[in-house]
Amino acid sequence: MHQHAKPEIIVLASNNAGKLREINQLITNIGIRVQPQQELGIGECAETGLSFVENAILKARHAATISGLPAIADDSGLEVDALGGAPGIYSARYAGPGANDKTNCDKLLKQLEGVPEAKRSARFQCIIVYLRHAADSTPLICQGTWHGRILAERRGDNGFGYDPLFYVPDQGCSAAELDATTKNTLSHRGQALTQLVHRFADEQRVKGV
Ligand code: IMP
Repeated sequence: MHQHAKPEIIVLASNNAGKLREINQLITNIGIRVQPQQELGIGECAETGLSFVENAILKARHAATISGLPAIADDSGLEVDALGGAPGIYSARYAGPGANDKTNCDKLLKQLEGVPEAKRSARFQCIIVYLRHAADSTPLICQGTWHGRILAERRGDNGFGYDPLFYVPDQGCSAAELDATTKNTLSHRGQALTQLVHRFADEQRVKGV
């Protein structure tokens, strides 16, 4: 991209409204415009990988193949130690077919019934990948991890997903009690996106654009 060129359009391979909101808040002023795949008529692809990295690449490649544009995808989830790392890569569909934020949180609370506070450690993981084109063999892969523990009941109305159950010890509140800016500064997604923005900017600089 040349200095005075129009912003580069990158497809965002996600239809999750919560993620879209956070990613848009974080990607500003770096000469790119992120367009949700839905606006281009691109549907979701099957997440058949066994890791966040594989799933993120599958999603980005799907969007890049159909659109012919560069693509960014986020694959993220919650790992709970007392559950052997579940729900992990299955976080979005934890409660089974038709799962949503409410049913997923209900299931998590049920699975952790009777587990004491000291054993409720957990972390959010996020992988964000950037594919320059569908056949890109060296995607940029960025990772963020956010440590906390699972509450025994919901707290707060902000955010999405498991946020009302995710206690952030440094802040003394749940992720759903944080305002959007604070969550973005601390979160797994915020960390991964900050890395991506830096690496993207470095790459543009090296290319001399
Ligand atoms: P996927 O990356 O679309 O497969 O799904 C990620 C799932 O992990 C979401 O649907 C949420 O349930 C959960 N998740 C990921 N990031 C967050 C977050 O920042 N807050 C709460 N839940 C999250």
